[in-house]
Amino acid sequence: MGALPVYRWRLASDGLATRRQLRALGLRPGGQDVAAQVERPRRRRDPLVAYLYRIDTAKPVRPMTPAKWAALAKANAARRICPECRRDAGYVIPPALGMCTPGRLSRRTARRISPVGGPGHTPPTALAGPYSREGVLTA
Ligand SMILES: [Zn+2]
Repeated sequence: MGALPVYRWRLASDGLATRRQLRALGLRPGGQDVAAQVERPRRRRDPLVAYLYRIDTAKPVRPMTPAKWAALAKANAARRICPECRRDAGYVIPPALGMCTPGRLSRRTARRISPVGGPGHTPPTALAGPYSREGVLTA
């Protein structure tokens, strides 16, 4: 563990994701070892540590029954609303990202890429993960 690369929070290199981020993409670590870790400093406490896994070697989550999906979708519904663009992202917003994925682009970049329809966040269908199958929020 001591040889693991350690990144500062939010600065982890691309291609790595926390277990929760993988889950939001419909993936799981799949038995792979931790590739790196990120640390978020906290006052007077030990840093918050998150372990990162490689996305390219992650595996799809195990098949779940419709009843399981329904229960999960219900529990996760509120967490799928992007705090930035207020839309249902179609998957649980990874807390470390804080918004639907394309929102990580700088606002200026996003505006340049997608002048119409807000800051260029992904419509729910574009990143269809398992969470989008059930329980899509309706107004
Ligand atoms: Zn968004």
